[in-house]
Amino acid sequence: MKILAVNAGSSSLKFQMYEMPEETVLISGTFERIGIGGSFYTIKINGEKTKKEKEFKSHSEAVATLIDELISNKVIASLDEIKGVGHRLVHGGEKYAQSVIINDDVIKTVDELSELAPLHNPANLIGVRAFMEKVPNALEVGCFDTAFHQTMDEKEYLYPVPYEWYTKYGVRKYGFHGMSHNYIASRMKEILGGDYRIISCHIGNGASLCAIKDGKSIDTSMGFTPNAGLMMGSRSGDIDATLIPFIMNKTGESLDEVINDLNKKSGYLGVSGISSDSRDIEAAIEEGNEKAILAQKMYVERIVNYIAEYYLEMNGADAIVFTAGVGENSISTRKAIIDSLSSLNIFLDDERNNVRGKEQLISSDNSSVKVYVIPTDEEVMIARDTYNFINE
Ligand code: AMP
Repeated sequence: MKILAVNAGSSSLKFQMYEMPEETVLISGTFERIGIGGSFYTIKINGEKTKKEKEFKSHSEAVATLIDELISNKVIASLDEIKGVGHRLVHGGEKYAQSVIINDDVIKTVDELSELAPLHNPANLIGVRAFMEKVPNALEVGCFDTAFHQTMDEKEYLYPVPYEWYTKYGVRKYGFHGMSHNYIASRMKEILGGDYRIISCHIGNGASLCAIKDGKSIDTSMGFTPNAGLMMGSRSGDIDATLIPFIMNKTGESLDEVINDLNKKSGYLGVSGISSDSRDIEAAIEEGNEKAILAQKMYVERIVNYIAEYYLEMNGADAIVFTAGVGENSISTRKAIIDSLSSLNIFLDDERNNVRGKEQLISSDNSSVKVYVIPTDEEVMIARDTYNFINE
């Protein structure tokens, strides 16, 4: 059965088509710069990537071209073969603890939740509407970034602020990267042969940790928004909220400008003044750049602190997993993190750690906690949920 997994942004559209239940990727690609001029798309099929330039005024036009490509590449013979389209939706609020079949009610709710994710939910819905128009017979399924974390206890998700902020305005920790953490939970269940206590470290451009017990999220580092918790590529993570009005007074910046600074000019980029990309930070460290060295120490320390917190919260851990761009690829960042955990008898095997983008055990045999690199796969989670709805 052919299933599409889709991730729509305001000017982009990423897709992967799966043969299910085998989970074989038949074709994948990205449309970029939709509606803003200079648009193009890339398609990958049988390991071969091609890039084509074409103007797309809307996501609907991109979906029409996508369908043409599926047919001309003989991935499908007719539209009816696409049985389901699974969409990544960022914010499901408290309403969605699982993926859902998209209907008018769901669209209305996701639209209302745009207040909590103004950059993402409206863009995600543009994608949903485009596929509903162009592939009307497929089942549309919504898969939320927040859903996996709905199992957190209220003592974890509430902020110590006036309680009515929660009841009236929905102020609470939601958490994000849920599909990635859920993938790690399911893959680790296969590897370890049961549900264990996992600390999942999704560290990419955005970064969050998740404490997973019995396959469920019990705590996570992102919060009301994705700019909470860890220091990230260009996001500050946790700060003292009071520094916002202080900086507004000092610089004359507006609230929006300071929030933008915290999201786009902070983290690795803000401290180092070099880049938000850990590869550039690593290169600068090699050259002895002091700010890059400092940025890396701060970055690592925050991850270590959260690992320690979740270790205590779960009364120990069975596995620590590194995933996403930095987690899968940065040998030195993983080493710095694990070397800071020796007081918990957690040890790295340097030879095993010499790996990028590949599933591998990287802890030493005498480590009290197993440490793994597991490449994440959010798309397959979307395809699985979509397939399961159709099968039901
Ligand atoms: P993601 O958001 O998961 O796509 O991660 C993207 C980030 O991963 C980049 O901004 C880099 O910081 C990091 N990254 C990707 N490849 C490497 C690499 N080979 N070494 C170190 N960091 C990497």
